[in-house]
Amino acid sequence: MNLERLENILRDEPKFRLKQAKQALFINLISDWEQATNFPLELRQRLNQECPLEIETKITKSQDENSIKALIYLDDGLSVETVLLNHLDGRNTVCVSSQVGCSLGCVFCATGKMGFKRNLTRTEIVSQVLFFARYIKSKGLKVNNIVFMGMGEPFLNYENVMGAIEVLNDKDGLNIGARHISISTVGIINGIKKLAQEKLQLNLALSLHAPNDDLRSKIIPYNRANSIKNLIKDVNCYLEQTGRRLMIEYLMIDDFNDSREQALELAKLLKQIDPPLYFVNLIAYNPTDEFKPSPAKRIKDFKLALNKQGIEATERHRFGQDIEAACGQLAGKL
Ligand code: SAH
Ligand code: SF4
Repeated sequence: MNLERLENILRDEPKFRLKQAKQALFINLISDWEQATNFPLELRQRLNQECPLEIETKITKSQDENSIKALIYLDDGLSVETVLLNHLDGRNTVCVSSQVGCSLGCVFCATGKMGFKRNLTRTEIVSQVLFFARYIKSKGLKVNNIVFMGMGEPFLNYENVMGAIEVLNDKDGLNIGARHISISTVGIINGIKKLAQEKLQLNLALSLHAPNDDLRSKIIPYNRANSIKNLIKDVNCYLEQTGRRLMIEYLMIDDFNDSREQALELAKLLKQIDPPLYFVNLIAYNPTDEFKPSPAKRIKDFKLALNKQGIEATERHRFGQDIEAACGQLAGKL
């Protein structure tokens, strides 16, 4: 699938064709242009040749079938992972990748370990959602949420991520509202500020993972380029401009960042966020090798310590660990 090529081909056709094509692609979820029966036969054949709709994948299901991981093969032989999460309440979230690999090398992250290969195009990002939209259509289900929490750092592929969001948003297409789309970032210089200017109702998540620069730099090398102090400044601008709620992601790593003292240090740090539109999401670390996850009791205590300081904190439900589809376990292998 290639949206640019499709738009080019349809440029020579009457204007309404593009709208029809989008409807066929994103509403009827066709996987072969033959199914676009309102198109002339010749055009269908041309599109099938020059813009085939097949998305080549290999899928693995978790034992409880609540998460499904798809390895999507790209045209240049590289591949990227995307995950479908079925929530208990019936909603379906697709966790998409924005890059093949990642250049930032966070030590706890499998994607970081594989290094950076390349940015994904707008179409390659949209295709991940399209694949699962087609996949669950037969069960009468729809994709409700998108999270940019797969492989890569979305703010280092800003234009394509925003281009993909525009397509996903399109009322004549998948019609996934900005409020149902979340971007997770490690906090790239000026990234958060730039997002604030988009005037979109997207959700933002910040991967903080530590209460001070020393500790954060140990696990997120990029922290040396953009300190927590700078991040808080950007976050405050963002919150003031958007009025949206920020999610602070905090990985719980055994004996590294999970003590009571560290909870208090985190609370003190977060009190610098103004306006205080945020909540903390505690994520049990999914082992990729070096570290161990915090025991459940310590996560509970950490949460309570934050709550006592008046800070809202939740624990993230774990998905897909058995198929290496959980956060930070995506590395393009099956
Ligand atoms: N690059 C972005 C988005 C992709 S990672 C970012 O870092 O935010 C999505 C989330 O998974 C981030 O919060 C990241 O810190 C987290 N993550 C990475 N490795 C993990 C691991 N091994 N266990 C649990 N979460 C992990
Ligand atoms: Fe990149 Fe995010 Fe993994 Fe860090 S956690 S290496 S920023 S994908």
